[in-house]
Amino acid sequence: MLQTKTLETFANEKDTDFSQQGEVEALKEAIALFRNQLENDYPVIIGGKRFYTEDKITSINPGNTKEIIGHMSKTTQDMAEQAIQTATKTFETWKQVSAEERASYLFKAADLMRQRRHEFSAVLILEAGKNYSEADAEVSEAIDFMEFYGRSMLQLEEDRHYVKSVPTEENRLTYIPLGVGFIVPPWNFPLAICTGLTVSAVVTGNTTLVKPASVTPIIAYKFVELMEEAGLPDGVINFIPGDSSVMGDYLTGHPLTRFISFTGSKDVGLHINELAGKTAKGQKWIKRVNAEMGGKDGIVIDETADLDKAAQSIVSSAFSFQGQKCSAGSRAIIVESVYEELIEKVIQLTTELRVGNGEENYCMGPVIDERAYNTILNYIEIGKKEARLVLGGAPGNSEGYYIQPTIFIDAAPDSTIMQEEIFGPVLAIAKAKDWEEAIEIYNNTEYGLTGGFFSSNEERIQEAVQRMYCGNLYINRNVTGALVGVHPFGGFNLSGTDSKAGSYDYLKLFSQGKLHTIQK
Ligand code: NDP
Repeated sequence: MLQTKTLETFANEKDTDFSQQGEVEALKEAIALFRNQLENDYPVIIGGKRFYTEDKITSINPGNTKEIIGHMSKTTQDMAEQAIQTATKTFETWKQVSAEERASYLFKAADLMRQRRHEFSAVLILEAGKNYSEADAEVSEAIDFMEFYGRSMLQLEEDRHYVKSVPTEENRLTYIPLGVGFIVPPWNFPLAICTGLTVSAVVTGNTTLVKPASVTPIIAYKFVELMEEAGLPDGVINFIPGDSSVMGDYLTGHPLTRFISFTGSKDVGLHINELAGKTAKGQKWIKRVNAEMGGKDGIVIDETADLDKAAQSIVSSAFSFQGQKCSAGSRAIIVESVYEELIEKVIQLTTELRVGNGEENYCMGPVIDERAYNTILNYIEIGKKEARLVLGGAPGNSEGYYIQPTIFIDAAPDSTIMQEEIFGPVLAIAKAKDWEEAIEIYNNTEYGLTGGFFSSNEERIQEAVQRMYCGNLYINRNVTGALVGVHPFGGFNLSGTDSKAGSYDYLKLFSQGKLHTIQK
C-alpha cells in the first residue's frame, strides 16, 4: 500500500458538496449526535493514561453562549513535568520506529477522519462557530496534512540529498528527529493546524506535548483520540490542555524541550521565541522555534483589473470566517481611478452577507469569544475616528458574539486599522494614486503573510511579484484558502519564521541532518 503513497499521487481531499442529496442531513445528524455529548468531561492524556482534574476549562458555543460544549481538565505544572518526562522517555523508542511505520499511522488516521468527516465538522461548527463549508474545508485540510506529511516522510527517507560519493568513500545524508516538541496551535483552525503541527513532528520521529488553544480544546481532544484509534503508541502525543500561564513558559523554558511549534499571535510568538533563546540549566541544545504569527494582509487593485472579480475576492478574503484567518485580507488598496466604483461593488456584495449561527449555515458566524468581541468592537471605535465608516460598525444578535461586517474607507496608510491585526470582520480600504503607490502602501506594515494583486497588465503583475513582500502572494484571486501541497504557507517579517506549512521542506524543520561517511 505504501508504494502508492507518493508525493506525485497526492491529491487534495475533496470538500463535501452540500448540494448533493443527503449531505446536509448527514451533517445535521452528526451535529445532533455531538449534542448528546455536550457538557462531557474530557481528560488530560499523558503516556496514554487519562487524568481528570478538578480545575476545568469550560468550552462554550460562541454562536450561542448559553450552550456548553464540554469541560476540559486543566494540566497542572506537576502534570506538565510528568508529560515532558514521558515524552522524553518515549522518544528513545519512537525515534527507532521506521519512517514507513510512522507514516502509516498518519494514513490510517486520515482514513478514519475521511470516514467520519461530518463528526469533526460538527464539533468545529459548535465549538468554533464555523459554517458548513468552513468546517468541512478545515476537515479536508487536516486530512491533507496527514496524507501529505506521511508521503513527504517516505520521500525524505528515500532521498539521496545530493551528497556525492567518491571512489574511496560512500557518503549519505539522512534526517533524524530532534526530540520533544512543544506544540502550541491557535483556535482559528483548531483541527487543521493542531493536526498539521502535531503530525509533522510525530512522523519525523519526535514526541510531542500538545497544548490546545483554551477556547477550542474539545476538537483538539477529538484529534488526539483519533490518533490513538489509529494505533499510535502511547506517549508519542501527550495532550496537555490548560492555562498558558501555568505551563506555557514552564515548557518553553524547560531544558528537555527540543523545539517549539507555535501558531498564534505576534506577541505570544515573540515571547516564546525570546524565552526559548535562553539556555536553561542542563539544556544540551539550541531550541528551535517555528513560529507562525499574525498578518495584516491586503489586496492591491489597479485600474486594469476585473473589478467584479476583485470585489468578490476582497469581500470573501475579508469576511470569510468573520475575518478570523491569519490570511484574511483586512486591507484593500485601490487606485484612485477605480476607487469609488470598486467600493460600491464591495459594499453591495457585503450587504448580502447574512450574519448568524454556523449551525444554520449563515455566511458569517460569531467571533470566537468575549475577549475577541470586545477587542474588535474597540478597533471599530478607533476606526470611526480614523476613517469613514460606510458599512456595519455594530454588534449583531446578542445570543452569541456576533459583529456586523464592517467597512472603513479613506483609511490613511499609517492608521491603526491599516497597521494592526484586528482579527475580525473589519475591512479597511485605502486610496492610492497609482499601482506603484498602492504596492508601497501594501508593503508598509511589520507583517508579511498574504498579499493579493489584481491587474490585467502582465508587466505590472511581474513587477508586483518582485515588489510585494509577503510569504504568500496571489494574483487575481483570493488571499485565503491555501491548499496543502499546492500553496505552502508561511509569512515574512513579524508574521513568523516562514516555515511553509504544507510543503515537503517543512519536515526538515523537525529533523536534523546527519552525514555518515563509510571509507571503502
Ligand atoms: P494566541 O497567541 O493568543 O494563542 C495561540 C496559542 O498560544 C494558544 O494555544 C495559547 O493558549 C498559547 N499561548 C498563549 N500564551 C502562551 C505562552 N506564554 N506560552 C505558550 N503558549 C501560549 O493566538 P490565538 O489563539 O488568538 O490565534 C490567533 C492568532 O493566530 C492571530 O494572530 C493569527 O493571525 C494567528 N495565526 C497565524 C497563522 C499562520 O500560519 N501565520 C495561522 C492561524 C492563526 P491559550 O489559548 O491557553 O492562551
